[in-house]
Amino acid sequence: MTADSQPSRVFSFEFFPPKSDEAEQRLQRTRQRLARMDPLFFSVTFGAGGSTRDRTFETVVDIQRRGGIDASPHLSCIGATPENIREILQQYRDHGIRHIVALRGDMPSGTGIVGAGHFRYASELVEFIRAEHGDHFRIEVACYPEVHPQADDADADLRHFVHKVECGADSAITQYFFNADAYFYFVERCRDAGVTVPIVPGIMPIINFKQLARFSDACGAEIPRWLRKRLSAFADDKASLQAFGVEVVSDLCQQLLDGGAPGLHFYTLNQAAPTEAIWHNLGLPVSADNATA
Ligand code: FAD
Repeated sequence: MTADSQPSRVFSFEFFPPKSDEAEQRLQRTRQRLARMDPLFFSVTFGAGGSTRDRTFETVVDIQRRGGIDASPHLSCIGATPENIREILQQYRDHGIRHIVALRGDMPSGTGIVGAGHFRYASELVEFIRAEHGDHFRIEVACYPEVHPQADDADADLRHFVHKVECGADSAITQYFFNADAYFYFVERCRDAGVTVPIVPGIMPIINFKQLARFSDACGAEIPRWLRKRLSAFADDKASLQAFGVEVVSDLCQQLLDGGAPGLHFYTLNQAAPTEAIWHNLGLPVSADNATA
């Protein structure tokens, strides 16, 4: 798809590679349900250090093979050699992939790999992809409205993001957040700094409070006090927590779209229902029949 034919709003759905046959079947069903929303792409996460390399690859190729909706692998460079990355990119290219989410990644503990290796930052991966493949791949990068947890400060993080875009990113997806003002303020600062690419909010449905709190502490996404208090009060009442979560996240998405966000990227956690419920609340279109198998 060329820049000229980009739809005015861009929606995408993120999956992680399944670990068992049963999880794979579940993901097939999720994918088929979410295909009805006609997203621009389905992305598949990658365990930094290559821990999910084969499963990510198989999942991406399977989605692409079924047709209808493009598959976009996440690719993280921490701990990788140029040869590793070169080989993966060529394999994706050979399978018709045109879209990559380029990341630094976080090295999982216990890998025995110390330090970052050849690539220190995602910007270097973006440069490498452009040097090796020109404009073949559309490149998405990550950004952090609430500031990346390892950044010295917000200004330094913004400078690094601007540089990463200048290295050749076409678009950016944010870390998730629950405060629309953090997004709007970040976008304004990016525009002031000359960034013109779309900055698509990453949306995390609320499914499990303990898991969300753990993720959020690790990645620096803030759960506002009022929301934390409300969510923890549901204790084991999962159904009420999820219904409340859908309401809160739908309101957030509505504010974002009303305020001019160029689309939404859903961290689906491989579940269709929460994303479908939010989609429905937003009144976004669902096609009765999508071509994907
Ligand atoms: P970078 O852009 O390299 O930034 C990392 C840190 O380095 C920041 O603090 C930045 O300010 C700093 N920095 C950048 N450049 C410089 C420089 N030149 N000098 C000094 N400091 C610099 N992780 C996975 O492992 N697999 C996934 O599939 C995955 N998918 C993701 C998808 C999205 C949309 C997002 C938002 C995150 C995802 N992550 C994933 C998490 C991501 O890998 C981590 O947040 C990681 O810590 C940073 O990755 P990055 O690409 O943003 O890194």
